[in-house]
Amino acid sequence: MINLILFGPPGSGKGTQAENIVKKYSFLHISTGDLLREEMKNETKLGLKAKNFMDKGDLVPDEVVIGMLEDKLRNNQQAKGIIFDGFPRTVNQAKALDRMLETLNKSIDRVLSLKVNDEVLVERLLKRGAISGRADDRNESVIRNRIEKYWNKTSPVAEYYDSKCVLMEIPGEGSIGETFELLCGQLEMLVE
Ligand code: AMP
Repeated sequence: MINLILFGPPGSGKGTQAENIVKKYSFLHISTGDLLREEMKNETKLGLKAKNFMDKGDLVPDEVVIGMLEDKLRNNQQAKGIIFDGFPRTVNQAKALDRMLETLNKSIDRVLSLKVNDEVLVERLLKRGAISGRADDRNESVIRNRIEKYWNKTSPVAEYYDSKCVLMEIPGEGSIGETFELLCGQLEMLVE
């Protein structure tokens, strides 16, 4: 099983590229943002708790997200490969993921980090908000807070994986197709 993290700030294209990878390689896509939105839609206790953070563009507390991820991982051990999208977002989450994978005798094979300039991210997210209906994509100050949280809390995760020699940076400002080709170039080395 290949364990891949698609890493990058909000709006860098993780979700879109994860879908492309799923189509080509039949990996399982685990997006903590999607899982949280599903919990919110179903008005579960977890969803109601997460909503307070997500509406403001803040990170949902580690223990909530880690517990949710553990359940998902436990139920999908037969997957050919997994793409983690939007997780881990803190070094604490990255360490928890390592521990979970270790109990399954596995580890993260590659972290593909999409690089996109902040102003391009704001522009992309506002455009997405106009069609997606996602409340956190419609308000520029919420978008800017999400990007700030990325730089303050999430970007150290890249250093964590760099120290483990699994980080690979990918330019993410080209077209969807161009970025996908760059990602596939990396993936071909992992999938025989
Ligand atoms: P996303 O769909 O990945 O952009 O995530 C949307 C929102 O869900 C984020 O702004 C956070 O509030 C929350 N979220 C998603 N994944 C995580 C995570 N791994 N840790 C904390 N909060 C998260």
